[in-house]
Amino acid sequence: MTIQKPNLPLLGFAAYSGTGKTTLLEALLPKLTETGLRIGVLKHAHHNFDVDKPGKDSYRLRKAGASQMLISSRYRHAMMAETPDSEADFEYLLTRFDSEQLDVILVEGCKNIAFPKIELHREEVGKPWLYPNDDNIIAIAADSKVSSPLPQMDINDLNAIRDFILDYVTTYASNKSNQPVAACCDTLSPAFVSVTQGREKILEAVSRLQETEAVAITNSYGRVLGGDIISPVNVPQYTNSAMDGYAIRGDDLDQDNYHVVAEVLAGYHYEKPVEPGQAVKIMTGAPMPAQADTVIMREQATQEGDSVTFDASIKAGQNVRQAGEDLALGAPVFTQGTRIESPEMGMLASLGFGQCDVVRKLKVAIFSTGDEVQNPGAEQKPNTIYDSNRFTLRGLLQKLGCEIIDLGIIEDDEDKMVSALESAATQADLVMTSGGVSVGDADYIKLALDRLGQIDFWRINMRPGRPLAFGKINDKPFFGLPGNPVAVMVSFINFVEPAIRKMQGQMDWQPLKVNAIAAESLRSRQGRTEFSRGVYTMNTQGQLEVRTTGKQGSGILRSMSEANCLIEISPAVDTVKVGEMVTVIPLQGRV
Ligand code: AMP
Ligand code: MG
Repeated sequence: MTIQKPNLPLLGFAAYSGTGKTTLLEALLPKLTETGLRIGVLKHAHHNFDVDKPGKDSYRLRKAGASQMLISSRYRHAMMAETPDSEADFEYLLTRFDSEQLDVILVEGCKNIAFPKIELHREEVGKPWLYPNDDNIIAIAADSKVSSPLPQMDINDLNAIRDFILDYVTTYASNKSNQPVAACCDTLSPAFVSVTQGREKILEAVSRLQETEAVAITNSYGRVLGGDIISPVNVPQYTNSAMDGYAIRGDDLDQDNYHVVAEVLAGYHYEKPVEPGQAVKIMTGAPMPAQADTVIMREQATQEGDSVTFDASIKAGQNVRQAGEDLALGAPVFTQGTRIESPEMGMLASLGFGQCDVVRKLKVAIFSTGDEVQNPGAEQKPNTIYDSNRFTLRGLLQKLGCEIIDLGIIEDDEDKMVSALESAATQADLVMTSGGVSVGDADYIKLALDRLGQIDFWRINMRPGRPLAFGKINDKPFFGLPGNPVAVMVSFINFVEPAIRKMQGQMDWQPLKVNAIAAESLRSRQGRTEFSRGVYTMNTQGQLEVRTTGKQGSGILRSMSEANCLIEISPAVDTVKVGEMVTVIPLQGRV
């Protein structure tokens, strides 16, 4: 689910307790509403805060089990939602406001969340300034002056603070039309693209390969179905016994004993109809004889000679699998775009298919760039590093069933780059390079890409993997990944893999994400998505717990090897404390 954030300006008040945040807001609100501004306030309270009172009906109903309690009267209503597992996400809370009815949301508290704030400061509180360490402070209201380029106001001059807020709201409204995606955190640094925005743009720009080919089921693992699969048969094909036991007629349950007229093993059948008083000894999977529709398991039967008695109550129709019960003839089995893995292979075989139609293999051309990058397998020259990116990329592409066109290392020469890129784009469906795309880098690949046309150089709000080039060369999607080995993998996972899956025909693929408890505190920076390499395990209470692999430098490729997941810290959060929930992206099956 993507949460639609309200398209409203958001402004917070950041201060140490004792500064008088609430008192100031209380005095400020009438001055703001006087101007016609409609204001919502989000206030963060301590963990055992309750707005309700013991004994009130709403309280009693909540305690009796209402996980959401909406109480309404002539003048107001209040929604109380229980969140026993973890506190609701800041962005989710914002969606609870009726943005149609508001012009601005003021926030008190929410210190760790990234959005614009006014720092409130009083000397007598004796606390340090926040603005030097918090990029989100956009103005200061204090009882002393500091040397800072930020706008400053007297904390006791409510009119000045009101004017600042009015100005902030007006500026937001006039900028809004130029900002197609107004997310609270991205408005802080418009030059950046968020992970989600980047991925959306990429997915819009790529499309599914149209050509399909027939492959033998034996060779279909990892391929993507080119068309829907409809069952050509009934599964099971014939009505059969679900147990080893005795088949009798469902209209003949009350005999003292039955005459055993035959024994049928799986793979055979009894050709005559079963008469009243008769039983057929039958094995699991063997076809039910005509007229018989009920099976009594062997453990509940006593057979002496050719006579059998049953010592359990019998229900007509029991222990029988009906023809077509699992899958009826003509029923849809798999849709186009399904990736064939072990169960799908087995299923296709079970329906009798010898081959199936799959999307043809995606051809991906890769090369590394940089004069310092050397091919492994030869003695290391001075001032060089061995190329690792092409090899991690080969693995990642192999996992996705791509055909790899490995163009090696292209030296830092603009003309050579241009011809390499052009030739790559004629041979492949997708072209990918690593290195040379960071901002301020004088690498030749950028010059070459500029010459080739429609390539954008993005600064993604993420770490690792900030620089990313994306565009088309002769209509083929091109990815210029960063050079750092971990950044290459994290960028691939976030941007390239979804694009490849879409091109292969897997249209709405979503990576698995789960929640885990942070077993160590995690630092990030507000406004960017942090992907730490993590190890998740199950703790003794059966909950997922996650810690990092240690040092997180984007060149430390071993961290990817030690990790079994990425820990994703959203742009709205800057620190995660021990015990808080974080998002974990398992890497099994993807790297
Ligand atoms: P760049 O973005 O080209 O400045 O590269 C960033 C870092 O990644 C530099 O330290 C490069 O040496 C390193 N790097 C670039 N390409 C590769 C590669 N193919 N394999 C390993 N490291 C690389
Ligand atoms: Mg380079």
